[in-house]
Amino acid sequence: MKFNPVIEHLKTYEPGKPIELVVREFGIEPSQIIKLASNENPYGCSPKAEEAVRKAAELMFRYPDDTMRGLKSALAGRFGVENSNLIIGAGSDQVIELACRAKLYGGAKILQSEITFAMYQIYASQCGASIIKAPGVAHDLDVMFDLYREHEPEIIFVCAPNNPTGDCLDRVDIENFIDAIDRDTLIVLDGAYQEYAAYKDGSKALDPAAMIAKFPHLLYLGTFSKAYGLGGMRVGYGIADEDIIKGLYKLRPPFNVTTLSLIAAEAALADEEFVRMTLKSCFEQMKEYEAFAEKFGIGVIDSYTNFVTYLLEGVTDSTELSDALLRRGIIVRDLKGYGINAIRITIGKPEENLRFFEEMEQLLDSGEK
Ligand SMILES: *Cc1c(COP(=O)(O)O)cnc(C)c1O
Repeated sequence: MKFNPVIEHLKTYEPGKPIELVVREFGIEPSQIIKLASNENPYGCSPKAEEAVRKAAELMFRYPDDTMRGLKSALAGRFGVENSNLIIGAGSDQVIELACRAKLYGGAKILQSEITFAMYQIYASQCGASIIKAPGVAHDLDVMFDLYREHEPEIIFVCAPNNPTGDCLDRVDIENFIDAIDRDTLIVLDGAYQEYAAYKDGSKALDPAAMIAKFPHLLYLGTFSKAYGLGGMRVGYGIADEDIIKGLYKLRPPFNVTTLSLIAAEAALADEEFVRMTLKSCFEQMKEYEAFAEKFGIGVIDSYTNFVTYLLEGVTDSTELSDALLRRGIIVRDLKGYGINAIRITIGKPEENLRFFEEMEQLLDSGEK
């Protein structure tokens, strides 16, 4: 079969390994497997969201409310924007896809940091665009600005905090950067981990309402997959000037978010206590990860997310280490594919983290890896 030449060489996303795979490959009991690979909330989601979904199960035969008024109004209230400033997607992934399709074509360009969320370049490549990467482990806005001047990309992606490294730019620096970019270049500002960053350090907290009022070329992204624990429901959103939202809406498939997902997200958004509990636990446990790293001479990137990145240069090989952990039922993310000798570990519950430390200690001590 001959395909559109654009898709011939496309790379596809490699998701974190599912628990089922480890059960099948290594014969480990599901209860003995710890998944710290996909930045899911280890506490699940708000019990109120579960309850709301259970109650709404009888609505499954109907098409969703395509105006999404319930969730839109809740988000509008939370952020202080109008419903017309919002688009809701099947994960913020879908909003990234729509943004790419709205701006890109064969020969267009995107600009991103070298080590960042893999979906930007995947969706952009699907549109035939080429990818300009600013080198470095963290976002360097000066380098990005120079590359912007040189290449005049159609979209610039900024991920704050960044996945898979966990570092985060300051709000002021992001705003100055956006202000210096011409108004026809779309800035996609990915705030998938903003709840975590805002909790840890106010100077990293973004205010999407104030930003879109100033910047008509800004699309801010948020998701229910991380702090809200609804990865399986696929709900994310974009906040932008009405003009951008209208453009994205032209490409949006009807009924792109299911009834149960909309209901779950709305209930999850209302349960602030649950989110606070998960944020508190995350950063308490993060200290344990930092202490462990220090003890074994492992480098850590200061993280503003629900994961921590261990830099393993001079300690061990990230691929061998993650494979050895996998055989012991612990799933982490090897970052070798991003060009760094590092692993990314999602912060789990205290007992899960303890298991991780125990297995790591044995592997590092034994020299087995
Ligand atoms: C998880 C994640 C997303 C989106 O996740 P969805 O489940 O599609 O909402 C977007 N950006 C980054 C950086 C992420 O880590």
